[in-house]
Amino acid sequence: MTLALVGQGVATSLAIAIGKALVIERGQASIVCRSIAPEAIDAELERLAAAVDAASDSLREIRRQIPGAVANEIEELIDAHLLMLEDVTLVETSRQLIRERLYSAEWALQVQRDRLIETFERMDDPYLRARGEDVDQVVLRIQGFLCGRPNRLPQALATDMQGRIVVARDFTPADVIALHYRGAAAYVSEYGGPMSHMAILARSLNIPAVMGVHRATAHLLTDEILVVDGETGTVIAEADAATIAHYRRRLRALGRRRNRLRQLIDKPAVTADGTEIELLANLELPEDVVAARTYGARGIGLYRTEFLYMNRADLPDEDEHFATYSEIVRGLDGIPITIRTIDLGTDKHVSAASALEPGCNPALGLRAIRLCLKEPSLFRPQLRAILRTAALGPVRLMLPMITSLNEVETICELIADIKEELRAEGLAFDAAMPVGGMIEVPAAALTASRLAQRLDFLSIGTNDLIQYTLAIDRVDDAVGYLYDPAHPAVLRLIRETIEAGRRQRRPVSMCGEMAGDPRFTRLLLGMGLRALSMQPGSLLEIKEIVRGSDLASLARQVEDLFAHLDDVDPNRFIDALNA
Ligand code: PEP
Ligand code: MG
Repeated sequence: MTLALVGQGVATSLAIAIGKALVIERGQASIVCRSIAPEAIDAELERLAAAVDAASDSLREIRRQIPGAVANEIEELIDAHLLMLEDVTLVETSRQLIRERLYSAEWALQVQRDRLIETFERMDDPYLRARGEDVDQVVLRIQGFLCGRPNRLPQALATDMQGRIVVARDFTPADVIALHYRGAAAYVSEYGGPMSHMAILARSLNIPAVMGVHRATAHLLTDEILVVDGETGTVIAEADAATIAHYRRRLRALGRRRNRLRQLIDKPAVTADGTEIELLANLELPEDVVAARTYGARGIGLYRTEFLYMNRADLPDEDEHFATYSEIVRGLDGIPITIRTIDLGTDKHVSAASALEPGCNPALGLRAIRLCLKEPSLFRPQLRAILRTAALGPVRLMLPMITSLNEVETICELIADIKEELRAEGLAFDAAMPVGGMIEVPAAALTASRLAQRLDFLSIGTNDLIQYTLAIDRVDDAVGYLYDPAHPAVLRLIRETIEAGRRQRRPVSMCGEMAGDPRFTRLLLGMGLRALSMQPGSLLEIKEIVRGSDLASLARQVEDLFAHLDDVDPNRFIDALNA
């Protein structure tokens, strides 16, 4: 009997999946020791034989495709690899290891590879010594076929994704969307932090995802059954019947909880002492409008428009922006929407605009409005389209990654110019469309008062605010342990923003992931926030907490926390607040 393989990564979404793995983007041979049952020997030998055949077919195919001019040298190399595939020292000895030691085919090859390479490395002749590399390449090729792993995502997309748990080194948000449309059921990645855009998308699509499972592509095999628990960040391969049954029970419990929460859909988001809290939805994709309405969102507090630029070779023009936004506004039927201008340049890139490739430190480089101001050809069509859409319904425009008043002033001038242009062209638009800014960098939070004099509203983007305050790359799981929304520095910046809004009489909302995390709802209400925007799937859970909260009491307790912020642990305070 083999034991279950358990991988621990970063929890990403409150969802569980049980399904067949599809491992893609195979890296170097990081094969692990894995054994087989005695009755599986024949099947394992057949698997190895099939992989060796496939490897040799692929080498013959490469040889066929080599252009004439270079054919000779490369042919020699390929022939050497083909000979090695037929050589008893590699394949036959691996077969022996499968039969005698019950090694998996991958592991048997790996063991034999290590032995051969060691022998080559001891040779004096440099030519023979270098032959070790050939062994390595041949073994890698066979192992690739053994794992049945298409090497790259586009190739993987050609396979059937329905219900598959896709395992890869990492995913871009564009990958997540492309895989989602093809029916992928869950994601497991080797890299990525809980606040990466990939994680946010997975949460919003309610797809289980676990990130930061190191060497997942080496440990997990295509077609094996996996359990992915997005809530605890656990991935289990070779789970026994009892474990599968346990997860099926948890799935049912999650379903029951969701059904119970659905009873709150028509209930108002009003606190126990009678204050209405605006619960808004974040939109990732136009079709999220349905979920936002189903779960009773009062409005859309953040519409991320980057998806318009993904999985395509060209840039969207004004007509496409306008068509997309107006369809969303029509679908919202009078519910207000805040459209954020594009925030490209970090983990979201524009493949269509190679000139806009990310710099060496993208999070601190030409990102979001910095990129837009540098490339007006990217920005103007979007601004024009948003202004025109605002003539069709209640639309606000929101600017990401503001760091200085200068930027806001430059954009306000640009918007004024565009209004003149639209007027001259006789196109309908809303001249009074509110323009707000996201507070995502400490500089913006500390000067929120000044920014609020020029902006109509503020929205706190905690994902970036935490990244920039605590100096932790949000896509790097290695520093994920430092991610702490309750860090005193973060809390002070949030509070400063809320107070700046109050002083300048400007509405302040929050649209980062913290807004949809039930752990922080009471704290945020106590700090004075009255508008929270989150992925639609979290709305009812947060509403349940809102309805049970007493604002006056929360405000007193939170006031006390801030009075002693240097002496207490905010996380313990939050535990007590939620108890
Ligand atoms: C944020 O930074 O909190 C935010 C909402 O923006 P994004 O996650 O898209 O960067
Ligand atoms: Mg952000």
